[in-house]
Amino acid sequence: MYRTHTCGELSIKHTGTKVTLAGWVQTIRKFGSITFVDLRDRYGLTQLLFNEAMSVKLEANPLGREYVLQATGTVTERTNKNLNIPTGEVEITVESFLVLNKSAVPPFTIQNDTDGGDDLLMKYRYLDLRRPELKENLLLRYNVSRATRSYLHQQGFIDIETPFLIKSTPEGARDFVVPSRMNPGHFYALPQSPQTFKQLLMISGYDRYYQIVKCFRDEDLRADRQPEFTQIDCEMSFVEQEDVLQMFEGLIKYIFKEVKGIDYTEAVERISWEYAMWNFGNDKPDTRFDMRLLNLKVPGYVFSESLNEVKDEFNKLHTSVSLEEFPVFANAETVIAISVPGASEYTRKQLDELTEWVKRPQIGMQGLVYIKSNEDGSFKSSIDKFFKQEALQAIASYTNANKGDLLLILAGKEEKTRKAISELRLLMGERLGFRNKNNFKLLWVLDFPLFEYSQDDNRWVARHHPFTSPKPAQVEAIINNDPVIEDPAAYLKHAYANVKANAYDMVLNGNEIGGGSIRIHQREIQEKMFSALGMNEEEAKEKFGFLLEAFEYGAPPHGGIAFGLDRLCAIFGGSESIRDFIAFPKNNSGRDTMLDAPASIDKKQLSELNIRLTDL
Ligand code: ASP
Repeated sequence: MYRTHTCGELSIKHTGTKVTLAGWVQTIRKFGSITFVDLRDRYGLTQLLFNEAMSVKLEANPLGREYVLQATGTVTERTNKNLNIPTGEVEITVESFLVLNKSAVPPFTIQNDTDGGDDLLMKYRYLDLRRPELKENLLLRYNVSRATRSYLHQQGFIDIETPFLIKSTPEGARDFVVPSRMNPGHFYALPQSPQTFKQLLMISGYDRYYQIVKCFRDEDLRADRQPEFTQIDCEMSFVEQEDVLQMFEGLIKYIFKEVKGIDYTEAVERISWEYAMWNFGNDKPDTRFDMRLLNLKVPGYVFSESLNEVKDEFNKLHTSVSLEEFPVFANAETVIAISVPGASEYTRKQLDELTEWVKRPQIGMQGLVYIKSNEDGSFKSSIDKFFKQEALQAIASYTNANKGDLLLILAGKEEKTRKAISELRLLMGERLGFRNKNNFKLLWVLDFPLFEYSQDDNRWVARHHPFTSPKPAQVEAIINNDPVIEDPAAYLKHAYANVKANAYDMVLNGNEIGGGSIRIHQREIQEKMFSALGMNEEEAKEKFGFLLEAFEYGAPPHGGIAFGLDRLCAIFGGSESIRDFIAFPKNNSGRDTMLDAPASIDKKQLSELNIRLTDL
């Protein structure tokens, strides 16, 4: 037997017990003639005491960091207790020991604040994974998966596997492809998600399917993405949107309880996509704080319930201030403000730094306008030259700035400005401490547009994916209208621009953690959808003939959702990076530097696959 206990379980109640532990040498500390060794395994850390006689033996068999050691001895109460760790009240007075394996000197220290750089940690990922922080992350991931399975099982869902070697069925991203040796010149694709399979399973009658499954997307890996990532993928039959929302709100709340011990009892707030865009500037707003966007050029709350009120306010603003006085405002497509609570004390230097921040290429604005609403009722602004105190006051009042607040205003092209101000809002929220990672806020974003217009390709693309159904009342708009756009500049006038999808996203603290939809389940509508997306009949048949045909055989109404497991874990773990929650992730260029993959393959393999490489 290698061990009687783990390195994480001994406590004062074991005093006097003879035990054998096995693990890795974390530290070796000599004190005169005695030696302390901290022994580590998955469960924790235990201090070993080598007395004088044993220390002499140690000298004959010197230990090093990360040596694999077995030690037998008696659990003894420590004089110098370390109450920060569960085993800190005891140590093992070693009576015999055995080096089970030596270790080369590790390339970085195996502790949370390691001295290893990113590249080194990735190359030696198996050592990186020994660090307690990573261990906790993987444990959290396991707990999230376990809670997921437990909830879905209780709700009658069954786990069904779907294939990885499939046919290229574009869902928006680029496919990874795999050459087939047995079918020369033909390729499989790796699934971007099991979307069509889960729909087929509904047609087969397997209501309430789920799978915790790898998905593959060959995208440029900006902003913390991975080419292979994991989804909690679910589908249900005979459901409407409301059924799906209830079921999966339940799932996330269950995970909160099981994994974080948090009772998330309140109903998850629901807002429409349009409301999100107008008020927060993006479709996954962090609603832990307000700081809403106010559009000075159009009455921004047009979609809120208080439309008339806002229109009145807007008209009032425009009778008391002529924004045109300031050429930048006059020439801009849009002008949007946020009111930052209690930030009127911002110094010149801080404001200059914010201006530089919005000018960075990632944000790309020309400049930043500020208005300080001072405590004494006066206003100080970077556009004092153009606007009198009364005008500044009118702007402040329209944008709900109180005394002591700082108004930040961006002007420019519509989409860019909206994106920029929504980033600025997040930055200010962060600075003011509104984005505490231990404070969780869920949100449903509903009523997404069904289509997006691609200026590059001059055609409509599916916002979610081509299998998402339109709102029932808007099916006719698709059936009766041709997708052709005569004037790209006026695409918003096309009937498709206003069609809303039966789709929903779940957002947690400003991150999209899941998304899904009620699907199309009639051949006619699905065909129309493909044609709306610029696919001719032949193409649709070639790519999705199997699905269209399946719809002929009694497809039930169905819908579902998929959650990003990696992201969910990262947010629960309070981290920005999903990589920290994946045992063996890829780097930003999609490489596994430990395996050195991807790599070339030898000539024989290539010729078996009938592949000849051109000069690279
Ligand atoms: N397959 C979709 C996705 O990966 C999720 C869904 O609609 O269920 O985004």
